[in-house]
Amino acid sequence: MSNNHQEHSVDEIFRAPSLAVSSVLHGGIHHPLLRSYQSSGRNLVKSMFIYPIFITDDPDAEQVISSLPGQKRWGVNKLEGFLGPLVKKGLKGVILFGVPMKMEKDERGTPADDPSTPVIQALKLLSRLFPQLLLAIDVCLCEYTSTGHCGILSHHPNPAHSGAPTLDAEKSAQRIAEVAVAYAKAGAHVVAPSDMMDGRIRAIKLGLMHAGLANRCALMAYSAKFASGLYGPFREAAGTGTSFGNRRCYQFPPTARQLARRALRRDAEEGADFVMVKPGLPYLDIISDATQVCPDLPVAVYQVSGEFAMIHAGAEKGIYGLKEMAFETVESMVRAGASIILSYFTPDFLDWLDEERSF
Ligand SMILES: [Zn+2]
Repeated sequence: MSNNHQEHSVDEIFRAPSLAVSSVLHGGIHHPLLRSYQSSGRNLVKSMFIYPIFITDDPDAEQVISSLPGQKRWGVNKLEGFLGPLVKKGLKGVILFGVPMKMEKDERGTPADDPSTPVIQALKLLSRLFPQLLLAIDVCLCEYTSTGHCGILSHHPNPAHSGAPTLDAEKSAQRIAEVAVAYAKAGAHVVAPSDMMDGRIRAIKLGLMHAGLANRCALMAYSAKFASGLYGPFREAAGTGTSFGNRRCYQFPPTARQLARRALRRDAEEGADFVMVKPGLPYLDIISDATQVCPDLPVAVYQVSGEFAMIHAGAEKGIYGLKEMAFETVESMVRAGASIILSYFTPDFLDWLDEERSF
């Protein structure tokens, strides 16, 4: 026995510590690998990321989006050069957003499923170029309607909204289902309706079943989408704004936790294959609720444009390191229960997840 040990009697060893044994936690996190064990097996991996991409109708476009650092609107001819290197680094999934700049818009959003619409062309091209890449696509009408609204307007104005027109839920859901089926036919593996119209999940599921596509196209429901101040840069990117009124009648108020739970449950019952919460960081409790309300469905979260821009802005001001804050926010979403993360940080994470963690 060494002298060291002889200095302490057995009595002393058991009497000395002032902390209870259960109080000593640091031993479990003194090594990077030990720290990773604390994540209950839910470590962040590349395959969790789906990268949102804006596709516009100028085939050679590569337009900088000033409010979304590093992000651009892409023309279909540029997709191979842009995505090829990311696929090599481990990119597993993308979600496409159509940004038509030149197409003639109308009340029913006719250009949404026109064969010449940029997202349909992109789906066909990407299925050919990258057959392993998961192709998800946002389904909504607002980028294609002359009103800028996500559905078709009813001609019965609602006096509660100073006589402004309201949306016709049934017509809207039918039209959205038509568009979703067209995208599935063009090669989408996942259709993701973001419009928040009542009944659209059921309408899309039935549409896919009738078209014989329900077994090869998944339905990701934006179930809990809150009216948020964090969508600003997206609106610049997608060029969407409403010509009158706003979307507060169909996006949830930030306090609406119970309503979000009802929507999650409803979308699961209507045939969603996975559910989404949007935005992420201010709604971690809703992500956690989603795992309880829909225990058998994967839960996705959209770290939206404003969250991404905010993290960049804070890092530029020297408030924190960009990488540390990107990890902290995304890992908080994983901790809350998300297993799919839609994020503009996706290309960064493809690099960062290959690097040694220093924090
Ligand atoms: Zn919309």
